[in-house]
Amino acid sequence: MSTAGLISQDTIVALATSSGSNGAIAVIRVSGSEAIRITNAIFKGKDLTQQPSHTIHFGTIREGEDIIDEVLVSLFIGPNSYTKENSVEISTHNSTYIIERVVSLLIKKGARAAKAGEFTLRAFLNGGLDLSQAEAVADLIASNSAASHQIAMQQMRGGFSNQLKKLREDLVHFASLIELELDFSEEDVEFANRDQLKNLIQQIYTVINKLVSSFEQGNVLKNGVPIVIAGKPNVGKSTLLNALLNEERAIVSEIAGTTRDTIEDEINIHGVTFRFIDTAGIRETTDIIEAKGVERTREKMKQARLIVYLFDPTQDQITNVWIQIEEVKSLGIPFITIINKADLLSEPQKVEFNILNPLFISAKEQQGIEKLKDELLNQVNLANINTDDVMVTNIRHVEALQKTQQSLEKVLYGIENPVTSDFLAMDIRQALHHLGEITGAVTTDDLLDNIFSKFCIGK
Ligand code: GDP
Repeated sequence: MSTAGLISQDTIVALATSSGSNGAIAVIRVSGSEAIRITNAIFKGKDLTQQPSHTIHFGTIREGEDIIDEVLVSLFIGPNSYTKENSVEISTHNSTYIIERVVSLLIKKGARAAKAGEFTLRAFLNGGLDLSQAEAVADLIASNSAASHQIAMQQMRGGFSNQLKKLREDLVHFASLIELELDFSEEDVEFANRDQLKNLIQQIYTVINKLVSSFEQGNVLKNGVPIVIAGKPNVGKSTLLNALLNEERAIVSEIAGTTRDTIEDEINIHGVTFRFIDTAGIRETTDIIEAKGVERTREKMKQARLIVYLFDPTQDQITNVWIQIEEVKSLGIPFITIINKADLLSEPQKVEFNILNPLFISAKEQQGIEKLKDELLNQVNLANINTDDVMVTNIRHVEALQKTQQSLEKVLYGIENPVTSDFLAMDIRQALHHLGEITGAVTTDDLLDNIFSKFCIGK
C-alpha cells in the first residue's frame, strides 16, 4: 500500500463488521467527500444529501427496480466523523450476497474498495487521532480481557501521547534556544541555561524510564501472563491444564455465539489472561527426568513469570520434594507449590506435607482449582497494577523510547563535557525525532504502511 495518494479525497468503501459471521446485521462503511452523494444514488428514502449530520434513515438499496435490501443509513458530515470526512454507515442484513451487491453498487457509483486500515489512516492523516492512538484502535479491537481493553482504551483516548507531547514541547523550546546560539556562535553567548537544560533532560529521562519499564507489565496485561506447569512425569500436569482450560471452555460456551478456537492455552481469571507456555510440550514430555528433558524444562521455566510446580505425594518422598523446591527456587521466579492427587492422601499424610505450605488439589476430581486460581492472581500481583497509569504495550513505542533515552544520554554527556552547541543541538534533535515517531509528529510512508497494513480492511 502506498500512502502517497491517500490524502486525496477519493471515497472508499468496505465492510466494517466481520465477514461470514452469524450476526444479524452487517455494517458497510463509506468515507470521503462523495460518500453521501454516492450512497444517495443507490438509496430510496429521504434525500440523504439534504439531511443533517448524526441522523439515521430507513430506506431501501436498489439497483434499477431491483430491491436489494431494506437498510438503515447513518450520516456523519465531516469533520464530525471518525475519519473527519463525510461518512456513511449502511446497516444491511448480514448476507454475503447482499453485502457484495451493495459494495459493488457503491463502487459502480464512484467509490473504491478501501485498503487495510485505510479508515483509521485517514483519521490519523486528518488529525483525528495521533499515531499511538490509531495503533490503540487495533489493540482495542483485539483486546480479549478487561486489562488489555482498559490499556487500549486509555491509550486511544490519548493518555499516553499527551504525556509525550508535553515533554516534546519542552525539549523543542530548548532545541530552538541552542540553535539560536549557533547563529551567534562568534559572540560566545549561551541562551539556553545549561543547568535548566540538564534539569529538563533528567526529568524527561525519568519519565521515559518509567514508560520503558511499564512495558513489561503492559505487555503482560496485553498478551497474558506467561506461566508454566512443571513437575515430574505423571504428577498430573496435563490433567490440571485440562481442568483449568475445560472450566474456561464451559464458561465461554455458555454465552451463545462466543465459541472461540483460540482459547486453547489461555485462561482468563477476573480479567487477567494467563498464557501457558508450550503446554503442548508438557503433554508430550514424559522424559523430563532425563538430563536433556530437565534442561529443556528449566529453559521453559525461565520464560515464565510464574511457575506452578506439581508433586505427586504417592510418588515422591517429602525430602525429595524439598530438593526439587530448592532447585526451582534457584531460578528466582515466583512459584506455587502444589500437592496434586490429594484425593489419594489420608489426613495424617496431608499434615506431613503441610510443612511445605503447599496448595492441596485434585486435578482429576477438580478439587482446589478455584483456590489455585486465586493464588495465581495473588502471585502475579496484578490486582495492584493501576491500568489507569500510562502504560506502554507496543514494541515500536518501546524501541523509540529507548532510542530517545540514548540520545538524551548523549545530550547529558554534552552538557557535562566541552561539546560544541551544534553537537548538542544535533543530539536534542535526534531525541525529538524519536519521540515524534511515537505520536506521529515524525512519519515516513514506510512507517505508516507498516502500521496500517496490519489492520484489517474496514478498520
Ligand atoms: P503428566 O505426565 O504430569 O502430564 O500427568 P497426567 O496428567 O498425564 O496424569 C498422570 C496420571 O495421574 C493419570 O492417570 C491421571 O489420571 C492421574 N491423575 C492426575 N491428577 C490426579 C489426581 O488429582 N488424582 C488422582 N487420583 N489421579 C490423578
